[in-house]
Amino acid sequence: MAQSDHIKALLAEQEIFSAPQTVKEKANLQNYDKVYQQSISDNDAFWAEIASDFVWLEPWDKVSSFDGVNHRWFEGAKTNITLNALDRHVENGRKNKLALVWLGEDGSERSVTYGMLLAMVNRLANGLRSLGVGKGDRVVIYMPLTIEGVASMLACARIGAIHSVVYAGFAAGALRARIEDAGAKVVIAGDIGYRRNKTVDLKTIVDTAVAPLDSVEHVVIFWRGEKKPSGERELDFADLLKHPAQFEAEAVDSEHPLYILYTSGTTGKPKGVVHVHGGYMVGTSYHLQNFYDLKDDDVFFCMSDIGWVVGHSYITYAPLVGGVTTIFREGAPDTPHPGIIWEIVEKYGVTAMFTAPTAVRMWMRMGASYPESYDLSSLRILACAGEPLNPEAFRWAMQYITGDHGYVMDNWWQTELGGPTLGTLAVQEHKPGFVGRPMPGVEACIVNEDGEEMPANTGGLLALKRPFPHMLRTIFGTPERYEAAWQQLPGYYLTGDIAIQDEAGRFSVLGRADDVLNVAGHRIGTADVESALVAHAAVAEAAVIGIPDEIKGEAIKAFVVLRNGFTPDSDLQKTLTHHVRNELGPIASPQEVTFVEGLPKTRSGKIMRRLLKARELGQDPGDLSTLES
Ligand code: AMP
Repeated sequence: MAQSDHIKALLAEQEIFSAPQTVKEKANLQNYDKVYQQSISDNDAFWAEIASDFVWLEPWDKVSSFDGVNHRWFEGAKTNITLNALDRHVENGRKNKLALVWLGEDGSERSVTYGMLLAMVNRLANGLRSLGVGKGDRVVIYMPLTIEGVASMLACARIGAIHSVVYAGFAAGALRARIEDAGAKVVIAGDIGYRRNKTVDLKTIVDTAVAPLDSVEHVVIFWRGEKKPSGERELDFADLLKHPAQFEAEAVDSEHPLYILYTSGTTGKPKGVVHVHGGYMVGTSYHLQNFYDLKDDDVFFCMSDIGWVVGHSYITYAPLVGGVTTIFREGAPDTPHPGIIWEIVEKYGVTAMFTAPTAVRMWMRMGASYPESYDLSSLRILACAGEPLNPEAFRWAMQYITGDHGYVMDNWWQTELGGPTLGTLAVQEHKPGFVGRPMPGVEACIVNEDGEEMPANTGGLLALKRPFPHMLRTIFGTPERYEAAWQQLPGYYLTGDIAIQDEAGRFSVLGRADDVLNVAGHRIGTADVESALVAHAAVAEAAVIGIPDEIKGEAIKAFVVLRNGFTPDSDLQKTLTHHVRNELGPIASPQEVTFVEGLPKTRSGKIMRRLLKARELGQDPGDLSTLES
């Protein structure tokens, strides 16, 4: 890979940052080198020791098995993740401890203790069971970020049903595709969401999505606005909560699927990533304690949503399994005022926070006067993931957010990987632009397309050499898509990212190797947007690329070839943008639509997005020998 100016600047970086001494001294994981070596030299013993801290109804026969593609953990063991997330806390003195604190944009607050949450989850589980939901059934959850959304996930898990949360910002077409792919018989949805002082009408989206789907037996609506029921299969969430508050959690195999979470791949069909009860619980909890460094008295503010993997692992599951108190907030991080997040940190004495680099860049643009106006001295950790954390944003956050009381930590992972995979611990040195080293239990490397491992300072494909308990088991319905990631270069799991390592072994993740974009930390397949565009009557062909965006990291630009008879004007540009928004949701709507006469293609007919991008950015287009015209 030729070294771009960006890579040269990264490798020339000299400045190293450290967490404050007082923070380092109290860190849960003190000796990375020793722990890492142990985790690799006796991987089974490492994970078995961690797993022994959890409630298992039956012990495992074998810690792990791996045939080069498929991996299984704690086989033979039985548990239910909710026994660990709820019952054991209620029984062991945390009954009255706050589990979840929900904040609304308008300043409202609701919270539940572990005892209250267990009762709510049990009622819902009884309610869902009365609808015929059983072990292995799929339930789609299209809920705004609320306590009820989290409780819906847990209620499914408690029954042994498999939930699939769809971000309540996806449009009807995307929601329908996910309900169909999962074969869900029940959909739990909210009527409205709140964002930027506006209500978002989710009910119409759900109605549109399920209308043609006879396979959906029940639609449960969590009403917050005026009740307007539609249709026979509709039920009221409040009625499910009238069921009894006792429910014995279903004992499931460690390998029993916990959830499906759809993410974008390189085809137009979303990938249903499958995670399981046992290994996922063990691995995500290990990282909550050792990487995010959370302790019993921490106040954790997770700025994500249950629609994303971070919301699964670090709003719902690991924090509850760990018995900590988690704050989450529905709405936009700059509404009602630019200092709102800092007001929350001060008011609640937040000690650890999770956010996306996009948010840091937004705060940076709004200016340091906002964080400077609040007392942020409680804040020990600001964890960032989801997209590259550029050196400038890292430095700014170290200076104005964590200051002399904490540190900013980058961490790299994916929906597929369940939890932090590369990152920098409190006790390690932080180098701007570099995410850090492999977490215990992870073996990562850079390979070229022939499967040769690359030395330091050479970019290539980011690969993993062994599985870990919280890594995906398969892609729902299309296991070959999962298998391909291990089979393309045997011995390596290809993550789809490109990265580089420095001499000290730190990784910097540079972006995607495939046709997937990352817009404000959200993964969007070029194929998803292109297929939405060609579904419009005016469009003959479309190609989509990512263009740099100061805040969002990447924004979407679409090149469109029109069918005969359509006029390339600004009205049609608006119509097409609106159309994609309607099909996929606001996060996937193109920032620019450009009309072109034709698209550059290889002789075999593949669109050369690389060429469009090079032209757009004024870069060298590289090898053009396969270009048809
Ligand atoms: P998702 O599965 O939606 O969480 O997206 C995962 C993708 O986001 C990865 O494959 C990376 O391309 C990107 N990503 C996540 N975390 C980081 C990070 N810390 N630095 C750079 N890229 C990241």
